[in-house]
Amino acid sequence: MKPSLQKLQRVFKLEADRGYDNRAVVGGIDRMLEHWTPEARHEGVPEDLIAYIESRFRDYNRLSEKSRAEALQGMWRRIQRSEESDLSSQPVEIEDHKEALPVSPPEPEPAGAPEITSDEAPPEATDSTIQAEAAPSIIAAPPEKAQTTEQAAHAAVIERFERKQREIQPTVEPAALNAPVTVLQGIGPRIAQNLSRLGLHTLRDMLYHFPRRYDDYSRLAPINRLQYGDKVTVIATVQQIKTRLIRNGTATLVEALVSDGSGALRVSWFNQVWRAKRLYEGSQIVLAGKVDQYLGRKVMTNPDVETLEEEQLSTNRIVPVYPLTEQVTQSWLRKQMNQVVSYWAPRTLDPLPEKMRREAELIPLPDALLQIHFPESHEALQAAQERLAFDEIFLLQSGVVRQKHAWQNRTAKTFTAEPEWLDEQVSRLPYQLTGAQQHALDDIKHDLASGKPMNRLIQGDVGSGKTVIAALAIAIVTSQGSQACMMAPTSLLAEQHYQTLLNLLTKEPPSADAGETPGAPILTENQVRLLIGSTPEAEKQEIRAGLADGAIKLVVGTHALIEDPVGFANLSLVIVDEQHRFGVDQRAALRLKGVNPHLMVMTATPIPRSLALTIYGDLDLTVMDEMPPGRQPVGTFILMPRERERAYSLIRSQIEQGRQTFIIYPLIEESENSEARAAVEEQKRLQSTIFPHLQVGLLHGRMRSEDKEAVMEAFRRGEFPILVSTTVIEVGVDIPNASVMLIEGANRFGLAQLHQLRGRVGRGADKSYCLLIPESQDEAENERLLVMTSTNDGFVLAERDLEQRGPGDFLGSRQSGFAELKMAKISDIHLIEKARRFAQALFETDPALTLPEHQLLASSLQQFWEENVGDIS
Ligand code: ADP
Ligand code: MG
Repeated sequence: MKPSLQKLQRVFKLEADRGYDNRAVVGGIDRMLEHWTPEARHEGVPEDLIAYIESRFRDYNRLSEKSRAEALQGMWRRIQRSEESDLSSQPVEIEDHKEALPVSPPEPEPAGAPEITSDEAPPEATDSTIQAEAAPSIIAAPPEKAQTTEQAAHAAVIERFERKQREIQPTVEPAALNAPVTVLQGIGPRIAQNLSRLGLHTLRDMLYHFPRRYDDYSRLAPINRLQYGDKVTVIATVQQIKTRLIRNGTATLVEALVSDGSGALRVSWFNQVWRAKRLYEGSQIVLAGKVDQYLGRKVMTNPDVETLEEEQLSTNRIVPVYPLTEQVTQSWLRKQMNQVVSYWAPRTLDPLPEKMRREAELIPLPDALLQIHFPESHEALQAAQERLAFDEIFLLQSGVVRQKHAWQNRTAKTFTAEPEWLDEQVSRLPYQLTGAQQHALDDIKHDLASGKPMNRLIQGDVGSGKTVIAALAIAIVTSQGSQACMMAPTSLLAEQHYQTLLNLLTKEPPSADAGETPGAPILTENQVRLLIGSTPEAEKQEIRAGLADGAIKLVVGTHALIEDPVGFANLSLVIVDEQHRFGVDQRAALRLKGVNPHLMVMTATPIPRSLALTIYGDLDLTVMDEMPPGRQPVGTFILMPRERERAYSLIRSQIEQGRQTFIIYPLIEESENSEARAAVEEQKRLQSTIFPHLQVGLLHGRMRSEDKEAVMEAFRRGEFPILVSTTVIEVGVDIPNASVMLIEGANRFGLAQLHQLRGRVGRGADKSYCLLIPESQDEAENERLLVMTSTNDGFVLAERDLEQRGPGDFLGSRQSGFAELKMAKISDIHLIEKARRFAQALFETDPALTLPEHQLLASSLQQFWEENVGDIS
């Protein structure tokens, strides 16, 4: 089977194991598409299969768990059909959750155990190797006024670790932890294989395999004091123990009566026969579990048990609960972790220089590693979490800060825009620039003239007019003989930009004022070209030649620009539109096509400051917070499915006034699994029964690029009034005459997506409408839809989206090592700012990290960035 399909198989498997929570890929399954699609295409995976998978993935986030399972199975069947010759390879199992299977000695996880903690976390067996969430904590957020005692306790913990007498001096350099797990006693190739499914390949992986939560069994209680619901440890003696078959012999029950002098307690274990073999009457045991009630008596079901002699890892303490996989059980892993941690943690050298660590009020790394696994107290655990979270964010910030320093130290070609010349260019535009546009233009002018490469993010809400700013930057650079390129995420958008830029840069202004002679256009038509995947090979060759000899001054395209071996004669300006659709490395790849070119990236996805500092920390930021004048907020309404006719009559009356309409459907084809109304089917229905006298066009992702563009162009020219489409028009599409956006199955879309779709209308001066029709009446109370009706402000929506769904939706999984944060919360602005301060100070004093006290840090940094800015596979 082709590697790209194998990769899918792995993701499907993981997703199934996780219970279809759309977390197998950080940020959601659809995040893998941006890299998967080119790879699959490269391997010759049939185009229709790719399109099918893309469409299912885009939809995935909005499906219920059950539908997700069906969707993945459906996809897998389809892949198998198309790979018939390769069918001998093993089919993926995505039918059921897998319970953790025992290794010898068999020690299944207690079946009833999740009720102890089920409100805190998903069942253990569904945990996965790819973790995006910050590690959960058993520490509840402290009440506001407890803050000072809390701080005092924290200070005391730091103080204590500071003064601790070390028996073992750390000597182990970061690189030594790259040794494979097989160096550990008792871990051979077979067990290593099991561990590798958890992503545990090296000693470092083990040390950094953090518990996903903790059970607090540090309270020891006599039996007569037990209360129903307590989570406690009990030390007792076994009085009786017996095993019997239950449920017609399909299950076993081990029952014991234990006592501690204060009282007696009944304990039972389901399907853990081996317990009975280990415990005998008179043995002294330590039990940890939750006190239950059965027929009025206190009982314990499926508690953890250790003997009094052995080291207590599962009882009588704050017990770590690790993510697991098949063939790896909790208590076995706990023992392994204990061995690794107690030997290696104290020996691990701390890469943070002592002085900095103290200033940052952090505990030493060896203590943090010990305490995160086997905490001696809640305070110690919290201090460990803070230390490890700091490390992650600090390494991340060091990377971006270093990057920024590096760019600032380079020289770039200088472009000065003469004020009269620039004024003339601006005056050619059919409108006046807004204040925000003027501001952005000033920033860019300044950057281009600085002699250092521009590195700027232009962030402006949908419709704020970013394209014209890009056009002006292009004008400055190309009018001085250099080349520029602009990359957009879809071919539709690339085509649109190409047309817009042709208009702005190669046309005479419509009418020059009497007396003034307009300057000649900046470029001629053949100096501006479009390069997308479907551009015919002959034309591509011609474009390559023109770019190589400098005859072409501007190329607009999709990621084809980076995949194609195009080389430029003198590329000086790189523009990436809708940059959140690309990964950091794609941005970097495009930049590498020139020698220190100026870089300008644009996004309509507003993000909170904490995120901006992290993912765009190496960029300068310009916010465009003003809409062109005369825009009216788009009137947004939720309609019940049965009120559809009202939507249609609004559409009819808008069309009578010469306006156009988009109607969006979430899926391409009616599928058995989904009630989603499909664009293809619906276009037929709308055309024949609802709008028989109006032409209804159709656009979806499975059409060939040329066809898509032809439909889009015709719609742009106003040749037909209604366009039925899937989300292919989601980003960037600019058709100012469209005034109605009707979204069917609106409950299936995320907020960011709804906002982008709505942004397709309201781009002119007239009133526009966005109509949201959920699939069912119940969904009308859908929170996202209600938020949509309450504001048109993308920043407000972004904050809401972050609250509701976490940061994944804003970012690709590959954005700046984001995927690998295990401990830190990306929303923790205090931590991020603190880490950034320290990173900045570090690179100011020692930009190349050559000082002896920064050597360990330098290698940690290298390790972190090598490992973490990687693929999901
Ligand atoms: P976005 O920021 O979403 O990329 P566009 O650049 O596509 O927005 O611009 C949206 C629409 O607004 C376009 O039709 C564009 O011609 C128009 N526009 C841009 N700037 C102005 C302005 N200053 N005054 C009026 N209309 C403008
Ligand atoms: Mg745009």
